[in-house]
Amino acid sequence: MSLKETDGAVYSLIEKEEAYQKKTLRLIASENYASRAVMEATGSILTNKYAEGYPKKRYYAGNTYVDEIELLAIERAKKLFDVGHANVQPHAGACANIAAFFAFLEVGDKFMGLDLANGGHLTHGSPVNFSGKWFKPAAYTLSKETERLDYDEIRKKAKEEKPKMIICGYTAYPLIIDFKEFRSICDEVGAVMMADISHFAGLVAGGAYPSPAKYADIITTTTHKTLRGPRGAMIMCPEANGQKIDKAVFPGMQGGPLEHCIAAKAVCFHEAMQPNFKVYAAEVVKNAKILSEELMAHGLRLVAGGTESHLILLDLTPKGVTGKDAQIALEEAGIITNRNTIPFDTRSPFVTSGLRIGTAAMTTRGMGGEEMKRIASMMIKIINNPLDIGLRSKIKLEVEELCNRFPI
Ligand SMILES: *Cc1c(COP(=O)(O)O)cnc(C)c1O
Repeated sequence: MSLKETDGAVYSLIEKEEAYQKKTLRLIASENYASRAVMEATGSILTNKYAEGYPKKRYYAGNTYVDEIELLAIERAKKLFDVGHANVQPHAGACANIAAFFAFLEVGDKFMGLDLANGGHLTHGSPVNFSGKWFKPAAYTLSKETERLDYDEIRKKAKEEKPKMIICGYTAYPLIIDFKEFRSICDEVGAVMMADISHFAGLVAGGAYPSPAKYADIITTTTHKTLRGPRGAMIMCPEANGQKIDKAVFPGMQGGPLEHCIAAKAVCFHEAMQPNFKVYAAEVVKNAKILSEELMAHGLRLVAGGTESHLILLDLTPKGVTGKDAQIALEEAGIITNRNTIPFDTRSPFVTSGLRIGTAAMTTRGMGGEEMKRIASMMIKIINNPLDIGLRSKIKLEVEELCNRFPI
């Protein structure tokens, strides 16, 4: 029986969510719209399978086709990112990062990651996360003046702290990371270099952002952000580190892999190898540049002075609005964003002074420069008048009209 027939409650909520995704401007930097093909694989009969282990080395019988699917995903990942080894089993970005820690560190070992409030991820050393509880984080920060990575400072800190691993790759940093610099810092102190490219993996795949493949000892990434695949993650590394990584994922961290998601990852990698994905990645960055210039022209302050990726971090302090209030007012107008701390934020992570936006999802819908300008102008109106209820309703209609012109 269909979902509609067996469970009307869930069915109708999914229907509502679908309509909502269609008629709102989704500017969450980590979200996207997966293709029909990706969703078909995710929703397939592969969800019935148990396949603990790796292709040709399973602990269960009956995995002839599942092996072929996982091998296909691995081969495509290796080709797409030009790496020696790929593990496509991690269930999520956080799981991939846990496996990375366990592959290279012992519990209690010291590592360096970017401070959470400066744009690092929870799994890069937050005290409430496994990374901060089981390992010893020595966080680096951005430069207070430029709000950018300061490689001299990171090098200095690394020499003082002597970490066993250094993480680069963030959740709220709009600029390009110099992976070569991180490699040389890691070499100077004998640290493992981990690149977490979760946010911008799609831009790397599409050639719109530099790749850490030549430099990093381990690369982790989600597959559902700019890469536009199913929810999930993977780990890549030079061939020499492959066995360590595989062991850390299974049996170290996970049990049976989600083969329906792995099939969808294979589909996503195939899509990302097509020429039109290059066009997409370039367009995502171009749209982010236009959006950021337009926002600055209207008097908004951008952290780090702009963007070189899909991501923009706004500092609302000069406007006298908190991230939380702006997020709520924009949501009421159909513009979906998330509040975010800015470097050295004086407000709590629950309130924040910043707002994070991204162009990955709207670019998938086909929006371009003209639409970015309109989005900027609508956002500015709301941010300048966050309590104007009438304005919210008016903008909401404009948003719906714009969304209707760009069907998913
Ligand atoms: C999103 C993200 C993650 C976590 O991914 P989940 O799938 O949500 O667990 C890890 N690291 C970075 C840098 C991210 O942006």
